[in-house]
Amino acid sequence: MLLLTPGPTPIPERVQKALMRPMRGHLDPEVLAVNRAIQERLRWLFDPGEGALVAALAGSGSLGMEAGLANLDRGPVLVLVNGAFSRRVAEMAQVHGLEPTVLEFPPGEPVDPEAVAQALRERPYRMVALVHGETSTGVLNPAREIGALAQEAGALFFLDAVTTLGMLPFSMREMGVDYVFTGSQKCLSAPPGLAPVAVSLEARRAFTARRGWYLDLERVAEHWERGGYHHTTPVLLHYALLEALDLVLEEGVEARQKRAQEVYAWLLGELEERGFRLYPKASPLPTVLVVRPPQGVEADRLVKGLYAQGVAVAGGIGPTRGQVLRLGLMGEGARRELYQGFLEALDRVLALA
Ligand SMILES: *Cc1c(COP(=O)(O)O)cnc(C)c1O
Repeated sequence: MLLLTPGPTPIPERVQKALMRPMRGHLDPEVLAVNRAIQERLRWLFDPGEGALVAALAGSGSLGMEAGLANLDRGPVLVLVNGAFSRRVAEMAQVHGLEPTVLEFPPGEPVDPEAVAQALRERPYRMVALVHGETSTGVLNPAREIGALAQEAGALFFLDAVTTLGMLPFSMREMGVDYVFTGSQKCLSAPPGLAPVAVSLEARRAFTARRGWYLDLERVAEHWERGGYHHTTPVLLHYALLEALDLVLEEGVEARQKRAQEVYAWLLGELEERGFRLYPKASPLPTVLVVRPPQGVEADRLVKGLYAQGVAVAGGIGPTRGQVLRLGLMGEGARRELYQGFLEALDRVLALA
């Protein structure tokens, strides 16, 4: 099966092999050394500044999202919504009693910093939440600009970097980010099951007293910073994540960005020749290509047809449900050879339609 979904992404052989390592305990000194190596590499990717907490939580990307909201409890929070994942942030903020105000933008368009500045002038917020790259619509949001506005307003800045970290240049310090998370199965091309997170020193100081137990990032820090027992970690996933992070470092984030952009431009050209149209109206996200199928072709039937040809891609979700194909160009997904195979399968499916 050719795996071209916007997460999970194909995993390199080196990462696959790490899963075959003999089992060790979660407090084994070798495993604690692996954890330190993971943290060192995540520091390099997140650039979180002095005193920050960096860890890989045992769960998917959504756990990274929920842990931030549970620990920070900085309501009222301004949630900037332009797709399914920012909608999820708003839902979680509601569940955790953070009094979310949703500022909504049309799907397919980026968040507008002018409107955010206006909202921040109208009433005080203690946190601003943004999704850097909206996977449901393929739009890249202006994180740097929103971070500056949040900082100016004295609010913490919460960022979902699931579709960007490891593929696009990133720096918590430069972008004014206080809490950020990703999922191991997206741009890092590791198996699903870990959520790398980083918390700035300022955000750590702003932790609420009621943080849950498994979600409590101070308890998590007890394990990741001092090697104590919190819960049994998925040790083999840690080995695999370390290999995946090393591959990111070896290639370099800028080279990965270039790789995604090149495949994106070429693939979009090929698809436009076949009558597909780009879904985002502005600020396309180079790691998730979202396209509307040609007139008269149903997106979800195309997804099924491709699957029958051995190619897994995603249809729409949230505002794009039933309208689009979503193609992952994250991590190992951003390879022209893979998409060559996709185009061959697509031509067979279109000929059958
Ligand atoms: C995939 C994704 C998530 C997390 O999803 P999980 O399925 O929980 O890993 C969060 N935000 C964005 C933007 C995503 O693409």
